[in-house]
Amino acid sequence: MVIPYSTQSINQDDIDSVESTLRSSYLTQGPAVAQFEEAIADYCGARYAVATNSGTSALHIACLAIGVGEEDWIWTSSNSFVASANCARYCGAKVDFIDIDVETGNISIHALEEKCRNITEKKLLPKAVIAVDFAGQPCQLKALKALSVQYGFFIIEDASHALGAEYESCKVGSTQYADITVFSFHPVKIITSAEGGMAVTNDEDLAEQMRLLVSHAITRDEQKMTDCSEGGWYYQQIGLGFNYRLTDIQAALGLSQLKRINEFHERRVLFKKQYDDFFSEIDHEIVEPLTIERNTQSSHHLYVILIKNNKRKLWYDTLKAKGIFVNVHYIPIHTQPYYKQCFIRWKIPQPFLPNTLQYYQQALTIPLFPSMTDVQQNEVISSMKNIMLTQQ
Ligand SMILES: *Cc1c(COP(=O)(O)O)cnc(C)c1O
Repeated sequence: MVIPYSTQSINQDDIDSVESTLRSSYLTQGPAVAQFEEAIADYCGARYAVATNSGTSALHIACLAIGVGEEDWIWTSSNSFVASANCARYCGAKVDFIDIDVETGNISIHALEEKCRNITEKKLLPKAVIAVDFAGQPCQLKALKALSVQYGFFIIEDASHALGAEYESCKVGSTQYADITVFSFHPVKIITSAEGGMAVTNDEDLAEQMRLLVSHAITRDEQKMTDCSEGGWYYQQIGLGFNYRLTDIQAALGLSQLKRINEFHERRVLFKKQYDDFFSEIDHEIVEPLTIERNTQSSHHLYVILIKNNKRKLWYDTLKAKGIFVNVHYIPIHTQPYYKQCFIRWKIPQPFLPNTLQYYQQALTIPLFPSMTDVQQNEVISSMKNIMLTQQ
């Protein structure tokens, strides 16, 4: 039996939705994309949503929309997928990394505050902080917002893990704190469109910028043109954009998946609780799950445990050998050779992130996904029990 750490759940409705798009007039640039955008905006309570062909491209256009360029610094946490930092590099910006809270894996507000306070020149403050809602738990957004006001930076919330999560009873993406919130619909995430992403915002100008950027910055809106339209065929390219469009086939899948999100969430909550029950019997000096803060509701994208007795590799290898495909989220971005090279070029020291490194030594993601069965979860639990009995 092979058990992945996460995988998609596709049912007949999903297949029917994709099939009907395949049989329609539009495979791309048709009605499904706009419907998907509206459905996500409605779901998370955002005013505007712009679909993209990946979470990564959504992060890229979010950076461009707020004006990130070569002179700028972007700060993010190192405990994330490389895309959280790469999006800034695509704009030529430099990236620095903030330490995390070990208990949650999220950006440490304390470390961020301290770093802001120690900056002596205004131009070294970040243009934006990319706040990653790690494992589906929202960052401490109110405190983040207070710092963003004090020090004058934008907040891009990388909510690739966190569709459906809540911060103080507000859905992630209702964006009263973040300027732009980004979701990913990669198959391992909360819902999938195969590849795909979405950037949501309450700011009309940012939404308009992002809408242009996903399709070559081409407009057919005469209001935006430098001259009058020359006829029905006429368009103008008014900036430098990309082809970051989601297809209608993908949007059809995303739409049908979104209808199932409550069902998915209930399954995740159930499995999360069953793991919690198991770990509540275990000495937390040895193994401890991540902490969920009281003012957040996680989407439970990942179930991460911290193995504190230096046996993480043993756990990984033993479980993997049994077909339980556990994973490690994440290898700290700042330790990647590419970024090490960057720090040398930018003449800054390697970021000092003790919590991130400690977390990385201990973290293991165990399987949790909506289509997991009780039999599979019991297999994971009994295998972990076995490791603790025989190897500790
Ligand atoms: C998945 C992910 C991304 C990138 O999303 P893609 O859709 O794969 O491009 C970015 N940030 C985080 C934290 C992710 O988990």
